[in-house]
Order: sequence, then C-alpha cells, then structure tokens
Amino acid sequence: MKVVFHERFYEVYTSDPAAAAGRMEAIVATLGKDFEFVKPDPALEQDILLVHTSEHLARLKRSKDLYEIALLSAGGAIRAAELAWQDEPAFGLIRPPGHHASPDSCWGFCFFNNMAIALRKLMPEGKIKNALVLDFDLHFGDGTENSFLGNPQVDYFHPEGATNKDFIQKIEKHLQQAGTFDILAVSAGFDRHVQDWGGLLETEDYRIIGSLVKTYSQKVCQGRRFGVLEGGYNHSVLGQNVRAFLEGMQ
Ligand SMILES: [Zn+2]
Repeated sequence: MKVVFHERFYEVYTSDPAAAAGRMEAIVATLGKDFEFVKPDPALEQDILLVHTSEHLARLKRSKDLYEIALLSAGGAIRAAELAWQDEPAFGLIRPPGHHASPDSCWGFCFFNNMAIALRKLMPEGKIKNALVLDFDLHFGDGTENSFLGNPQVDYFHPEGATNKDFIQKIEKHLQQAGTFDILAVSAGFDRHVQDWGGLLETEDYRIIGSLVKTYSQKVCQGRRFGVLEGGYNHSVLGQNVRAFLEGMQ
C-alpha cells in the first residue's frame, strides 16, 4: 500500500473546510511511518481536458496557487490509479477533493474531478476498459456522475444507509452484484463518521469497508484498487479513520 502525498497539500489554498489548516497534518501524523509515501507529479493540462472543458480550466487558472495545488491533487489521483493498475494498492492523500467537480462547473470545495481524471487517463491508454467507483463520502458525488453520464464504462455507486450496519450491507450487496470491472476506485470521504457531519460510521466501519474493497477487488479485478481522499472535517478523528480504511484495504 502506497500513500501518494505532496507537502503542498498542507497549504491553505482557500477558506473552505477541506483546505483548513491542520487537516492534512492530522492524517499524516496518524499514519506515521507505517506507510510508504510517494510524491505525485502535477496533472497536465491535457489530463484535465480529458474531463473538463477548456473554459473551466481557464477559470481555475486565474487563481495561481489554487490552480497549482488542484493540478497536483489530480496528479495524485492519477498516480494512485496507475499504482493500482500496476498491482500496488494505493491511496491519494490529496486535496482539494474532487467529486463535486463536473466537466464545466464545480462547488463543494472541489475544483477538478480527481477521480474522473484518473480513470479517464487510464482508459485511452488501454489500461482499463471499465471501473467501479465506490463513493462513501457523506455527499453525493454529482461531479463524478456528471463526468460519466451515459457512459456504461463507469458504475458510480454512492451508498446510503439508516444505520452503520445497513450502510455496510448496501456496499457489500452492490459489490456482489456489480459484475466484472477492471479496477475498483474509491472516493473516500470521512464526513459520515459519528463525530463528523454525517454522524453514522464508527472508525472500525472504515476498516470493514476497506477490507470489502480488498476482497472484492481480488475476486473481480486482480486486486486492483485505489482510493482518493474526498471529505472529512473533524481533525481529531480524521487521521484514525483514514488509517483504519487503509489498514482494511491493504
Ligand atoms: Zn462530503
């Protein structure tokens, strides 16, 4: 399991909670030296244009620092996906998040759709034909759905559940019925934790979800699996939740 990370993700690039000071520090401190960290290269403009319009790209370019970090974040997702394709499970410890970024618009602390860009990057290179995206963030990833509208190559799944057990069962059922795909990609948002906005999942639930991801990827797609960070805003529990998910998934 490799963690894709860059020091520039520590920068406070906007005033939103995803960019808050101390958020990445909390995760890095909890992961400690137990995971191998690798650095991403920034995504190229041509990578961004696999998903986004040139108008959207031009709008982001007007904010230099934000643009540079958003390129690095997308590059982090690409690196994690490529590692997964090379049979190395990986997690993109990246920000800004991406699942609310649509081809020509964005909101919800997102700018470029990191996940969509990473999958689109692998596809024309012939590395993967199709993918299952599991997005367990509290919020629906409208940007990811919009990026693959009418495209049968990507199955985007955002579970809901009344209890934590129900939520996990929904994930397991979907994985069981998903058929075959070439890579299992996880939009990992931790804002559904009992001490975060969603108030539903325990830390150990993230470990269970991680192990489901591992098990089903081994059954269906030779273990090819990766995640990228989306939401998660309570710094006092975020690190332990990411760690539990990674330990389950590795
Ligand atoms: Zn969220």
